Amino acid sequence: MTDPNCLFCKIISKQIPANIIYEDDQVVVFKDISPQVPVHVLIVPRVHIPSLNELTLAQSTVLGHIALVAKELARAAGIDASGWRLVTNCGPHAGQTVLHLHVHLLGGAPMAGKMV
Ligand code: 5GP
Ligand code: ZN
Repeated sequence: MTDPNCLFCKIISKQIPANIIYEDDQVVVFKDISPQVPVHVLIVPRVHIPSLNELTLAQSTVLGHIALVAKELARAAGIDASGWRLVTNCGPHAGQTVLHLHVHLLGGAPMAGKMV
């Protein structure tokens, strides 16, 4: 459930500080330390799942919850109409650097470099 060596597990357990903007029984959301756009937060399941590669059927409902949390946070940030993006990087070719599943919520400015 928790990895004592995991950065995001330490943020979730408040061992390491972060700018937490929302939390509930399933997820913790905090501002990215290196924002790429004006609104850049990380939606992180409390459960330690390294990436989508390790997601089980039983754990998968958290993804729907993340989508709903993202929708509410986008509305609260005033970017629901201007547009926003969810990204999860899985593995080396995608550039994943923290091995605890997380979804980037990005918005607040036009995003260049549309990949898909
Ligand atoms: P990834 O590259 O794995 O998709 O995303 C990891 C994200 O975590 C990066 O955008 C990076 O800026 C962010 N990050 C790394 N270390 C910390 C930290 O200690 N605190 C916060 N708030 N974000 C971090
Ligand atoms: Zn973790």
